[in-house]
Amino acid sequence: MQITERVKNCNGCEACIVGCKYSCIKMQEDEEGNRRPVIDERGCRKCNACVLFCPLYNPVELPEFADFFDAPEDVRKREMAPIYRATMRKVREGQHAEFVGTLCQIAALKSLRGDKLAHNLALFPIYCDEEQRASNPACRACRFYK
Ligand code: SF4
Ligand code: SF4
Ligand code: SF4
Repeated sequence: MQITERVKNCNGCEACIVGCKYSCIKMQEDEEGNRRPVIDERGCRKCNACVLFCPLYNPVELPEFADFFDAPEDVRKREMAPIYRATMRKVREGQHAEFVGTLCQIAALKSLRGDKLAHNLALFPIYCDEEQRASNPACRACRFYK
């Protein structure tokens, strides 16, 4: 079963891609131009890790952020999986790691780290304004802005 059928309002954060040990998830643009995960059913072992790492399926709590950062639109459209992997590697190795992302991307990173942040991980949240939050069903259902 495709992960987006299990997870309502997928926001395209890509945590599921990193969570899949069998590398059988890739992103594809839907008809509205939003990136969504698609499973290669031939490689899927039905282990369910993709769903368990999804921060919408297994919600994670985020800290209160005092400051947000404006970012160009293309920052939101980055391929996130390699960024999560590189950030987690740095954190594991004890290096100073910086992560710039929307709240849903920060939630994805935290979920992939077993719902933990770290003293050597600096977070720079990108603010999603009202226009962004009205832009597609996932953002309209966004639980990260109260
Ligand atoms: S982990 Fe992210 S990209 Fe994957 S299904 Fe969940 S919300 Fe969508
Ligand atoms: S169920 Fe397991 S093998 Fe299949 S896509 Fe999800 S994580 Fe990958
Ligand atoms: S509005 Fe929410 S779901 Fe949409 S990009 Fe921003 S944090 Fe992610």
